[in-house]
Amino acid sequence: MISAPQRRLDKSNAQFQRAVKRLPLGVASTFRYWGDERTIYAHHGKGGRTWDIDGNSYVDYRLGYGPAILGYADERVDAAARRGMEVGGVFALSTERELIVAERVAKMVPAAELVRFSNSGTEAVMAALRLARAYTGRESYLLVEGGYHGLFDAAMWMANMDEWDAKSNRDPEVVPYGKGIPETVKHLAHLVPMNDMQRLEDTFRRHGETMAAMLIEPIQGNCCAISASRDYVQLARQLCDQYGVLLIIDEVKTGFRVGKGGIQGILGVRPDITTFAKAVANGYPISLVAGREDVMRSFRYGGASHGGTYTAHSVSLAAAEECLRILDETPALETLAGYGERLKAGVSQILSARGITHSFSGHPSMFGLFFAEAPPDNYRAWKTSDYTFYDRMAYYLHDLGIIVEPDSREPWFMCEAHGLDDSCLTDTLKAVEAAVELTLR
Ligand code: PLP
Repeated sequence: MISAPQRRLDKSNAQFQRAVKRLPLGVASTFRYWGDERTIYAHHGKGGRTWDIDGNSYVDYRLGYGPAILGYADERVDAAARRGMEVGGVFALSTERELIVAERVAKMVPAAELVRFSNSGTEAVMAALRLARAYTGRESYLLVEGGYHGLFDAAMWMANMDEWDAKSNRDPEVVPYGKGIPETVKHLAHLVPMNDMQRLEDTFRRHGETMAAMLIEPIQGNCCAISASRDYVQLARQLCDQYGVLLIIDEVKTGFRVGKGGIQGILGVRPDITTFAKAVANGYPISLVAGREDVMRSFRYGGASHGGTYTAHSVSLAAAEECLRILDETPALETLAGYGERLKAGVSQILSARGITHSFSGHPSMFGLFFAEAPPDNYRAWKTSDYTFYDRMAYYLHDLGIIVEPDSREPWFMCEAHGLDDSCLTDTLKAVEAAVELTLR
């Protein structure tokens, strides 16, 4: 008989009580707040595990929302970062390492002909969209429902599913993610459901002539790894060409994770602009805007403005050089994807033994788990599905020493370190088995 686990969170709870007096919600990022009594504070991470300040250890499948591709505190990348620190950190000058990293990126991702650096995914996508506008002289853009592209105003528009009738042929209303997003921006954003070819064609027919860009995450890293079909992305490419719209593939989560050449390599589609961030430097803050030479040359005086005090910071750049070298020259990506395959197989075995219908989405290096015969193929389908079993199971998993996102939107992320040590797999499967039993009660 499995009993509900007792995890002591005394120190995290006390920290929360003090922190909430100085930090909104007691945290530095709203998404890290999981409730007054379930918000935990990290002490340190090593490899595929994180320890909280109470000393509880977790096999970590959030990995900081994806960046720790090799694992936490990777000695190879950290040693490189220290070398970056020693040279002085940040200059109002460019450095030689920028070119080394740009050349590595271009080697791994052929569409990345030229490269610019930023600090976060938000900044990279914001710059990419501005670049597309500067290049095309147009202002509006197309987003895919369920996508997330960062915190800047232009990206923060979503489909309002609460008021939507699934049986109607109407599209859901476009609403901002939260308050403080100006309504004046709204008329520039068009939204389409993923994998609906007809609606994509209709939208291009209506707005294609005035759109600067279509922005897509072919695996939605913030919506259960819902995946675009190859045909859908290829149609997007074709329509972009037909209407003079730039195709921006947001690989902030998939880049240097699902494969050396990203999701674009797997799907065989060449975007005009790509954005990368998370896995570039194993967690050091850096992001990239990369793309077609003629488009990228619009970053110039009199063209699209781009820069920033911390852009191409020596610490992050040195970490990026080493991290990308490892991803390019060693089997790290095979190791982590192989681990993801074994994990999926183990979870599947546990669920099948209990007759629980389930399926997976995404890629073995970042996958979503669903309690349905097939994963949803767009945000509308996910929003109208029943994800309560998952949410309850995630709750027990935390208590049992496994960190996954508390709801099914964020996929499970794998790192190389998970795959180097069998204990991560054994511990996870033991916990999944217990969590499923508890959820079934
Ligand atoms: N684009 C995608 C696909 C993301 O998943 C994220 C963040 O999760 C962003 C952009 C924004 O990145 P950041 O949080 O580094 O600003």
